[in-house]
Amino acid sequence: MGDNSQALVGDLLTELYIGGEAVPAGDGGRFDVLDPATGDVVASVADGTVDDAIAAVDAADKAAAAWAATPPRARAEILRKAFELMTAQSEDLARLISLENGKALPDARGEVAYAAEFFRWYAEEAVRDIGSVTTAPSGANRILVVHQPVGICVLVTPWNFPAAMATRKIGPALAAGCTVILKPASDTPLTALAMARILAEAGVPAGVVNVLPARRSGAVVSAMLHDPRVRKLSFTGSTEVGRVLLKEAADQVINTSMELGGNAPFVVFADADLDAAIEGAMIAKMRNAGEACTAANRFYVESPIAGEFGRRLAERMSALTVGPGTAEGTQVGPLVNQDAVDKVDSLVRGAVDGGAKAVVGGGRPDRPGFYYDPTVLVNVHPDAPILKEEIFGPVAPIVTFDDEDEAIRLANDTEFGLVAYVYTGDLARGLRVTERIESGMVGLNRGLVSDPAAPFGGVKQSGIGREGGHEGMLDYVEAKYIAVEW
Ligand code: NAD
Repeated sequence: MGDNSQALVGDLLTELYIGGEAVPAGDGGRFDVLDPATGDVVASVADGTVDDAIAAVDAADKAAAAWAATPPRARAEILRKAFELMTAQSEDLARLISLENGKALPDARGEVAYAAEFFRWYAEEAVRDIGSVTTAPSGANRILVVHQPVGICVLVTPWNFPAAMATRKIGPALAAGCTVILKPASDTPLTALAMARILAEAGVPAGVVNVLPARRSGAVVSAMLHDPRVRKLSFTGSTEVGRVLLKEAADQVINTSMELGGNAPFVVFADADLDAAIEGAMIAKMRNAGEACTAANRFYVESPIAGEFGRRLAERMSALTVGPGTAEGTQVGPLVNQDAVDKVDSLVRGAVDGGAKAVVGGGRPDRPGFYYDPTVLVNVHPDAPILKEEIFGPVAPIVTFDDEDEAIRLANDTEFGLVAYVYTGDLARGLRVTERIESGMVGLNRGLVSDPAAPFGGVKQSGIGREGGHEGMLDYVEAKYIAVEW
């Protein structure tokens, strides 16, 4: 960790943030946050307990009525201010993300801009939350539909976008008039705590946003989901944990939004603009070193161009600069922790044992920290686990196909359905294929889909609900129907 990073960390909030105050954990416990570039300890953070979780619900409950009654314009102005503060502090925030998550600074800067935009977007949505009045078909009465805040929300976020996954939930929740408890991933709690400070400075009243870092995530989240005051769970993370939380939420029939894992196919037809496809592949694969739910996980390339596509992708991958995320010039930072490296390595080993060839990379560089080499695999067996599981690392497995039906069959051969990418020069074919692909989102001749103004989310086991866009706000309101005669 460099001197700049030390100065950055010295000023950070590292306690729990409950009721507008920094409070130590109930049992005084703390846990370490590591720098993935070195494995060194960056900071120690309060480790929330079940009692702390209930204290956070108390705080959210105390603040709920006043926040719901705060005029939408006032809520909007606070969110707008949070956008401005985040933008003004973007460089420090980017360095902090890079420090605790490992991602390269350009990726971290991109994340801060994306994350801040959720506050701006939902500042605008807060004043456009429109209900409806219609006449009942019988003519007997009017049907009024008004939106009310869903209530106290528990927000659980992953480590791969520590700022954006938080703002994508906090923005619409606050716009809708809800109070929240954010439980960040234990690898990356510092960014979440920094966001709490920004929101307080922007004017968010005490108790409206509470942040509860906790290593005992199962116990603290479960306690909150069994508190009758909690009405909403919004979770972003793995499908495996999502399934557990859906079951937990069932006990109190809690409203849930689930943003889960992906296994994105990247389909390239022979008529595609190959320059654009390579460019898109680099973005879809290498943003965040592959640690994105939207990361291209499987490349399906039509046979006549597969050789050239593989060669060109390998050339681009081997030219990337790997290094500490916080160092200027780094394009690929370390992965988040040792487990992540081990998982990527075992998937690559499995593919190679099954007959695949690494045309570039295929192992870990000889340096401290949690690194993996940018890797391109060809001749991957269709049953290889690397095509079934999220790689979450800088590895691109390539499989060839011979016609449109085969491409669609391969793309849909997964229980996931978050995003897919399709490259073709024939727009009619592109639209036809995107309609048949089972995913919540498609990038058509584009390697990046995430946009705060668009509904982000998956089908099949990639999730329930949408974040971003107008749809994202609807996940935080209940539509109340009033049958009225006048
Ligand atoms: P994870 O499921 O391990 O953890 C996510 C969060 O849940 C963390 O805060 C973690 O502490 C908490 N958690 C873990 N076990 C828990 C339990 N039993 N009870 C309650 N909380 C628990 O996921 P991760 O490793 O942090 O993130 C990577 C995963 O997130 C990938 O699968 C990725 O695809 C997914 N993801 C999805 C989206 C999306 O929008 N669909 C976005 C980003 C990441």
